[in-house]
Amino acid sequence: MTKRRNPRTIAAANGVASDIAFGAVTPPINLSTTYTFAGFGQPRTHDYARTANPTRTLLAETIAALEEGEGAVVTSSGMAAVDLLISQFTSRDLIVAPHDCYGGTHRLLSTRRDRGHVDVLFVDQADDEALEAALRKSPALVLIETPSNPLMRVVDIRAIATRARQAGAKVAVDNTFLSPALQRPLKLGAHYVLHSTTKYLNGHSDVIAGAVVTADKADAESLAAWANMVGTTGSAFDCYMTLRGIRTLFPRIAEQQRNALAIATHLARHPQVARVHYPGLPSHPGHEIAKAQQTGFGAMLSFEIDGDLEAVRAFVEGVRVFTLAESLGGVESLVAHPTTMTHASMDPEARAAAGITDGLLRLSVGLEAEEDLIADLDQALALAARADDASRKRTA
Ligand code: PLP
Repeated sequence: MTKRRNPRTIAAANGVASDIAFGAVTPPINLSTTYTFAGFGQPRTHDYARTANPTRTLLAETIAALEEGEGAVVTSSGMAAVDLLISQFTSRDLIVAPHDCYGGTHRLLSTRRDRGHVDVLFVDQADDEALEAALRKSPALVLIETPSNPLMRVVDIRAIATRARQAGAKVAVDNTFLSPALQRPLKLGAHYVLHSTTKYLNGHSDVIAGAVVTADKADAESLAAWANMVGTTGSAFDCYMTLRGIRTLFPRIAEQQRNALAIATHLARHPQVARVHYPGLPSHPGHEIAKAQQTGFGAMLSFEIDGDLEAVRAFVEGVRVFTLAESLGGVESLVAHPTTMTHASMDPEARAAAGITDGLLRLSVGLEAEEDLIADLDQALALAARADDASRKRTA
């Protein structure tokens, strides 16, 4: 048996120099929607591109290898990946999801519950009693998102997966925030890994796509059949771009998390900042779990500005190196205001229950120079302090 390659080698070189037509070093894009039959009743490896095409197949194999899974299905978005998995369950099945999961996942699960497609319970998975009570209801699926979006809460995948398995549930982990470069949930007991490959795997903010990776080969085959049936498989062009992005995944994320730690450390000492949420800080409640189950702390963080909405407005309008935009995981640094942006689709009560305050800001830290990023945050925080002073004077 050949030795399993190091994930860095898989990321940099899977499929490289495998072209048998022209000997292309870079795996070529294959845009054809349909493939010739060798003869009557003799389909080749591919027949129709909704079902499979060589570019998507190579990407699926690459992501599966990086996650140490047995197979993967590449979808047209991260939400399509979440929905592909949810669609395997019925109205008799209970899905236990984190109360502070990504807003789009929360909306999808709530809507499918309201339409009677599945039953859903949102729980704080860090609360042992709440999780135990949920597991007593014999869920069919436990969905985990760690670190969570946007509060960077960390839960123990192995511990939850063990308990969920004992309760007869399947376990899925949304690994979008770390990527397989920093966390491999299948090794910790999950059955499925979900990705918005829009984020770190592609890494350049120019593709919307997703993937479900499975620990079991048969699961990948049945998910692939469903994705083909409903037509949510990813486009060849997006797959080509994502393969290109994956080749630099490891060095990108290593640099980005170095910047993120420097920023988190700086913000934690800043007078205009009330709280910093970054698992790489020893003061973070999930620091020890993150250290044990991750190989790095990642490049996402959030912080609470000490001020009102006018201070938040001054900050987000004042940044010059950071850009006010949703999404994450690209090479450029972004700031988002969850209440009015990424998590606006959650109702205010659900947001409050999840701990998402109006002063919370989320940073996706990119590859720019650390000194420019920190200087930018400092000048925007100075603007926020001035705006806060002015609105205090107005209300005094
Ligand atoms: N899961 C997480 C954790 C996300 O942050 C996102 C998007 O931000 C998604 C899933 C959905 O992915 P997409 O936007 O590619 O549909």
